[in-house]
Amino acid sequence: MLSLQDIAISMADGTPLITAVSLEAAAGETVTLMGPSGSGKSSLLSFIGGDLTSAMTATGRVTLNGKDILHLPPERRRIARLFQDDLLFPHMTVAENLLFAVPMAPQAERHAKMQQALADAGLEGFANRPPHTLSGGQRARVALLRALLAEPQALLLDEPFSKLDRDLRATIRAFTFDHIRARAIPALLVTHDREDVPAGGRVLEITARGEIRHV
Ligand code: ADP
Ligand code: MG
Repeated sequence: MLSLQDIAISMADGTPLITAVSLEAAAGETVTLMGPSGSGKSSLLSFIGGDLTSAMTATGRVTLNGKDILHLPPERRRIARLFQDDLLFPHMTVAENLLFAVPMAPQAERHAKMQQALADAGLEGFANRPPHTLSGGQRARVALLRALLAEPQALLLDEPFSKLDRDLRATIRAFTFDHIRARAIPALLVTHDREDVPAGGRVLEITARGEIRHV
């Protein structure tokens, strides 16, 4: 369970961006966050992940599986993020991109995890390919599995589907939500597209005043 309690974020000059955001996402649940451009959705995810710009200040409490995380450095929060630009390293092969995310372990074990991720992505034959030779959908699957290889306990998705072709989006959405459910981790999904909301999923909206509204 990922829990946000009374999160407030302000700009450097004190202007409030987000005023009182509280929400919870249960294990395996994807909660969708919508709201106008510039309302602070990405900033909220940055705050949770631990890399909010120093141009902003924030208060509130964030717990993951009952433990406070805000005092932890980003790399110890066990939270993965996925952006609309998948940011695969262009100079590395698909396999190297995946291996990069596998935690420290004996090499054979790391290799086995990478191979499993390749198989999960349906890309067994693509290990030695550079990312630019993959289709958009293949890259999206690699990016998701790379994020999950770090064995995060929560996933933050910042408009991850918005650059995909329309006919691909449904497939990649289903792929993403299936993995979130299978790993039983909570996820927050920021999107502008109502069609991205998982079936029966909860939707919260950040209003222009920075408050949260359940819709
Ligand atoms: P959203 O994701 O909802 O579109 P953001 O969180 O990206 O909104 O941005 C919220 C506001 O903060 C915007 O006015 C944006 O210009 C500003 N902002 C975003 N990043 C920075 C930064 N690094 N430094 C200063 N202001 C920023
Ligand atoms: Mg944003």
